[in-house]
Amino acid sequence: MKNQKLSGWGSVAVHGGHKKDPSYAHLTPLYASSTYVFDSAEQGMRRFTGQEEGYIYARWGNPTITEAEQKIAALETFGTGKEATTILHSSGMAAITTLMMSTLSQGDKILSHFSLYGGTDELVHRILPRFGVSATIVDLRDLEKAEDALRADKQIKMVYLETPANPTIQCVDIAALSALAKKYNCIVACDNTFATPYLQQPFALGADFIVHSTTKFLNGHGTAIGGALVGADIERMRGPIFKFHKTTGANSNAFDAFLLVQGMKTLEVRMDRHCTNAERVAQFLSTNKNVVKVNYTGLPQHPDFAIAAKQMRHAGALLSFEVKGGLQGGINFMNKLNLCTRAVSLGTCDTLLSHPASMTHFSVPKEEKEKYGITEGLIRMHVGIETVDDIITDLEQALQ
Ligand SMILES: *Cc1c(COP(=O)(O)O)cnc(C)c1O
Repeated sequence: MKNQKLSGWGSVAVHGGHKKDPSYAHLTPLYASSTYVFDSAEQGMRRFTGQEEGYIYARWGNPTITEAEQKIAALETFGTGKEATTILHSSGMAAITTLMMSTLSQGDKILSHFSLYGGTDELVHRILPRFGVSATIVDLRDLEKAEDALRADKQIKMVYLETPANPTIQCVDIAALSALAKKYNCIVACDNTFATPYLQQPFALGADFIVHSTTKFLNGHGTAIGGALVGADIERMRGPIFKFHKTTGANSNAFDAFLLVQGMKTLEVRMDRHCTNAERVAQFLSTNKNVVKVNYTGLPQHPDFAIAAKQMRHAGALLSFEVKGGLQGGINFMNKLNLCTRAVSLGTCDTLLSHPASMTHFSVPKEEKEKYGITEGLIRMHVGIETVDDIITDLEQALQ
């Protein structure tokens, strides 16, 4: 691929970010070395002052990590005409923490939606307030309400989006909210974990930062926890944001980065399969008499069908549905599953199902849960890449 410009996303997934290894290894090896040597004191000086590119210490990066970072940046920017840089983290939560703590200061506020990932919710409501950073939560599907909040509160410095989001697969309009945020001088960050850059490219829609839990679809096989912070403001990324990351030790490691690079090569083919399977499963569920409701943005009855269709290549592989019989109905259904796996998380090759009322949201009061659409019989489903008929056969018998 020496001089060939890549024309398709799938080629970038395979080749993006790869540099020929000095040992001529086909794959960038696991660089299991904590420190890097200098030929001379002068070279050490040049590396420390940034006059010469090169590795110094593995908390700050290594070649395996660099390949993963550059592949993610290439995938998030491909075809957008934008440039971006990535910092790989030990987890999605580490990436989100770096984003918030390195770009916000005491007194600043975050404007966000109510369906945030559990860890992010904890961070913005329980941890950041101790440092004087707080969150204003508004239904961001209502653009007027979003603008009212931005107009009324000059302390809001970041609009933080997560779309699609748990567990009712709500979507918000990235382009419209980015335009609003710009009008009020706010930065826009988007958690793109559920969609992946294959289905949705927030930079093309005006976002300044993208975060990923690479644990999910990007790794794709459930073999490592990881996170990515991707930023279009390269100077800021290489300056204060990188400094925060390297000082707090939020770094990834060679092994996890290696697994991530291999996983991302098949992202397009996996996503195509995840998505077509999810569509079939959603259709099956919506005609089953023991299912009360299906939340999938690929179905026209979902309230965010139009937003998803506008900004995503496909509705994705996450859905939720409500079984009859409340809490016990949900528990019975979960216990009957044979092929499908009972587990939280998503993005693995196998289908994963969880029951928020008995698992992730067990300790949340019932009224609070219902406010967010988390009914007692709600099942969250990540549709895997198995033969779809086998997934449906399992669901069908568990629903009986
Ligand atoms: C899993 C997840 C996270 C957190 O990522 P970790 O890798 O578990 O730290 C953040 N956002 C979303 C949407 C997630 O699904």
